[in-house]
Amino acid sequence: MVEKRFIYDLSEGDASMKPLLGGKGAGVAEMARVGVPVPDAFTVTTEACIEATKRDGRWPDGLREEIEEGLARLEERTGKVLGGSSNPLLVSVRSGAVVSMPGMMDTILNLGMSDESVAAVAQESGNERFAWDCYRRFIQMYGEVVEEVPAYLYEDALTGLKAERGVEQDTDLTAEDLKGLVATFKEISAEHLGGEWTSDPREQLHRAVDAVFRSWLNPRADVYRRANNISAELGTAVNVMQMVFGNRGDTSATGVCFTRDPSTGEKSLYGEFLVNAQGEDVVAGIRTPRPLAEMRDVLPEAYDELIATMAKMEAHYKDMQDMEFTVENGRLFLLQTRNGKRTAAAALKVASDLVDEGVLTQHEALGRIEPSQLDQLLHPAIDPAHGRTPIAKGLPASPGAAVGEVVFDADTAAERGGKGEPVVLVRYETTPDDIHGVIVAQGILTAHGGMTSHAAVVARGMGKPCVAGAGGIKIDVKARTLTIGDRVLNEGDVITLDGSTGDVYGEALDLIPPQINEDFERVVAWADEVRRLGVRANADNFEDATKARELGAEGIGLCRTEHMFMAADRLPAVRRMILADNQAQRAEALAEILPMQQSDFEGVFTAMKGLPVTVRLLDPPLHEFLPNLVEQSLLVQRLETAGNDGAELADARETLSQVKRLHEQNPMLGTRGCRLAMLYPEIPEMQTRAIVRAALAVLDREGETVKVEIMIPLVALTQELSAQRAIVEKTVADELAQAGRELDYTIGTMIELPRAALLADQIAEHADFFSFGTNDLTQTTIGISRDDAENGFLTNYIMDHVLERNPFETIDVDGVGQLVQMGVDKGRSTKPGLKTGVCGEHGGDPDSVEFFNSVGLDYVSCSPFRVPIARFAAAKAVL
Ligand code: PEP
Ligand code: MG
Repeated sequence: MVEKRFIYDLSEGDASMKPLLGGKGAGVAEMARVGVPVPDAFTVTTEACIEATKRDGRWPDGLREEIEEGLARLEERTGKVLGGSSNPLLVSVRSGAVVSMPGMMDTILNLGMSDESVAAVAQESGNERFAWDCYRRFIQMYGEVVEEVPAYLYEDALTGLKAERGVEQDTDLTAEDLKGLVATFKEISAEHLGGEWTSDPREQLHRAVDAVFRSWLNPRADVYRRANNISAELGTAVNVMQMVFGNRGDTSATGVCFTRDPSTGEKSLYGEFLVNAQGEDVVAGIRTPRPLAEMRDVLPEAYDELIATMAKMEAHYKDMQDMEFTVENGRLFLLQTRNGKRTAAAALKVASDLVDEGVLTQHEALGRIEPSQLDQLLHPAIDPAHGRTPIAKGLPASPGAAVGEVVFDADTAAERGGKGEPVVLVRYETTPDDIHGVIVAQGILTAHGGMTSHAAVVARGMGKPCVAGAGGIKIDVKARTLTIGDRVLNEGDVITLDGSTGDVYGEALDLIPPQINEDFERVVAWADEVRRLGVRANADNFEDATKARELGAEGIGLCRTEHMFMAADRLPAVRRMILADNQAQRAEALAEILPMQQSDFEGVFTAMKGLPVTVRLLDPPLHEFLPNLVEQSLLVQRLETAGNDGAELADARETLSQVKRLHEQNPMLGTRGCRLAMLYPEIPEMQTRAIVRAALAVLDREGETVKVEIMIPLVALTQELSAQRAIVEKTVADELAQAGRELDYTIGTMIELPRAALLADQIAEHADFFSFGTNDLTQTTIGISRDDAENGFLTNYIMDHVLERNPFETIDVDGVGQLVQMGVDKGRSTKPGLKTGVCGEHGGDPDSVEFFNSVGLDYVSCSPFRVPIARFAAAKAVL
């Protein structure tokens, strides 16, 4: 048996080892393999992190020794000694998860700087200041990240020293100053940690690796994983790499670059660099960097080599790359390459261009597109007719428009945004600790940082509008003001951001619906050629149905007729229908509703231009239509207290007694769906008449033959379906006879209760089609309330990893999924070829779509804006 290893040298890895070496580890190994200059390194595997995490931080046996051996080999290869007094080796210790999580975990640079090595570094570099600067940076970073010394202790000391010397910039401090600062920093660390402080680089290396392991579980990484559905089980690798220095003077630099523009997908030069700086300065947005094109003038040779390397790596990975580089004394090193995060628009353009360039096949290109990301394309933009002047301008870091109230910290953003209030998070610069605020904000505005700062990368990945590095804005977090020129905005004032241009407006502007471009049309057409699943939309009015068709829906999979009833002009009649004491009263209310229903149906049928429309008969959880019991009781009480003994009180009492009569403790399990129709057959009868009349009217007026599918909801018993079917058939026959016309139509049922799935073979005898209502099926299978669970324990379950995914968002394949599979199989055992679809929210969730494809459904149906996502997801499911 081959023993498990926890360490791999740079030369032992390659791109295929990403699960073990993480994205960064596998990426650098692959670059080294194909001859791109990278610093020497070794990688601690993700398995080591997983094992340590499982054992509450205790390292697996042998890991410590393996790291020692890996270090010894690195020392031998480089001819240097970690922290040695001559020819010292300095290393970076960096996290690198399997799926990239930019900036969410920890990194330690300059490890190996010590009292012993600092003189040698000074001598070797010929730059004493540089050596002491590296040393103080190391103590600071190591102290903060590994030993958890509060950052402000170091910052205060640094600021104090600058004030004492009367200088503004760190770079104005002399070697002597920095030497003193190192001594102060050491005292701060030692004092904070008591006996725990170690200055031995080897011990520091072990502790740094351990800190990176721990950072896998830090709160911001956890939030990021949840937001991006990354499993907490994957663990992070740790890369120990020889340091190269971008801060050795004017022939050194550091930067990041993309092989194409990650906002638009254009094949243009995209990147930033800083002369005489360390990598983290660029990524963290601490100094605002220069555009990459300017590097040609400053460092021409390194620039040419970089451009050639970018082309080489893009061709190698057949995808747009996001790379980090450092130039040390004119010599180029690549530190990382990964498939670049990009906006949805860029994803489509890159896919389309790579096919034109002959790099990818259409199928491969489809595989590169993340369906859920397309949501972004469907985001609104600022109405170009606004005629307003921006009050500030920054970098267009992530496209889309955002309108919201200014908030100055992530906690406030999280709190208010979490309640659904539109907020724009305004920060000097965002750090990964702001992630919880970023997720719920409408958009992000920063005063500092470039296009590749964390704020930009994270926002782009989420499709969140972001304007970064708006230099003209001044933020006073204490006073909670944002000053632009002489305009002062307070927390709560509304601004609008345009993440596509970088413009900031000091008011709420109107937004227009998103525009779908040629790349989209082209690539989605490839998806349509490949997919097997049909894609329909859930829509119940003309506008939504029209939007759905525009976005490629091939029919309506669910027209919820109760939504039509909720319009203000219908509700009173609907209430009268529900509250009616006798048949005559009910008939009167129904007669009032019928023409309104008919015109609603005509709208949907007209919009769908002959495509199939599944109309579901009324499924009203009664509580959604009636006055609330508590509120009605309070109203009666109020009127009584006020001494009102007139008609108003009498009315209120009457309504209260009706509400009490119909009140249910569990309305979602109550007189819903076909149960109401079983009690009052005149309701489905009225609806059927409205459907038939609308279909005939649209045929006459538009010349469109409507493919009507009438669907019976919440069926648990075959008797329910057969009884309802009989009502519908009789009514259709009656209407057609009266009109002297013909109409093709089908009658099907929803499968949304476990009993219906279990007895699907019997149910199928009475159904022409099945549509799985996975919202209710999830509610009733798991036994969790779709109205309440997410406000309560379900959120905790997901936080605590009792459940990895919200089962109302992504189908619970193991449980609910089994019932879907059983429903399909049993239904088809009675009627081979029985048409089956799904119309619960899961129909627009890419992972669920994959499952629905695998169980052989004919179509998915989802909200109109998710139709394009479902089209791509359905294609991916078969690739
Ligand atoms: C369902 O239950 O999945 C469904 C589509 O019906 P509704 O959401 O209207 O209950
Ligand atoms: Mg339902």
